[in-house]
Amino acid sequence: MSHLEMEFTEISLADIETRAQKLIEDYEDHVGKRVRTPVPVESIAEHYLGYTIDITDEGLFEDPKYLGGIVFDDAVIRVNAAVESHEGRYNFTIAHEIGHHVLHREQFIAARNEQTPNIMCREVSAKPLEERQADQFASALLMPADEVAKAMRNIPSASGDISVRALRALAGKVCKIGGFSNVSNTAMCNRLITLGYARGLDYQTGTGLDLMRSADARGFSGIDTWLYKRLKKFMRIFR
Ligand SMILES: [Zn+2]
Repeated sequence: MSHLEMEFTEISLADIETRAQKLIEDYEDHVGKRVRTPVPVESIAEHYLGYTIDITDEGLFEDPKYLGGIVFDDAVIRVNAAVESHEGRYNFTIAHEIGHHVLHREQFIAARNEQTPNIMCREVSAKPLEERQADQFASALLMPADEVAKAMRNIPSASGDISVRALRALAGKVCKIGGFSNVSNTAMCNRLITLGYARGLDYQTGTGLDLMRSADARGFSGIDTWLYKRLKKFMRIFR
């Protein structure tokens, strides 16, 4: 299935951050307690937004390139069974589908016609605007900026330019100290770049970081370990 024949509107990163934060606050009101890390995206989807999470390897999901999908009409989030055992990938997929609910549901329902598939899918390869937006939302939801900032305050000398290896180590520390136990190291690396904690790497486009980022957006811990090893080799050669 190709991506939807539908034009979604641009949403600023700041707006996506705000809407992820708002969802957390609404969920806090709903459950009557403060949300701490790891952000319980499964519970937000099921107990607050009313979705059923269906882990499946049937139909479309026989193909591992479909990581997940959301069917608004049935209030179902489908997750490829191949993703289930990878904590980071599983949670990122659910957070991504929640992103579609928050950012795209209304527009999707208003703009669809008889030819529109009833599912928005998370594919490995295709990255149209709405998929990138859902990834940004997922990062913001799983790794709230203030929680990352709090963890960073407890890590000495963590600012300025940074190597890929140092970024990996830093992301590991942030995950541990900040309690981000449901995100992959790569997801945290990219979050740190987005939030401006890893400045040196923003400018290394074309030297492999782009690959690392896109692999991360897909939450591919298996592939990105492989990719990271290749990347390190590559960077050693060209430095
Ligand atoms: Zn998607």
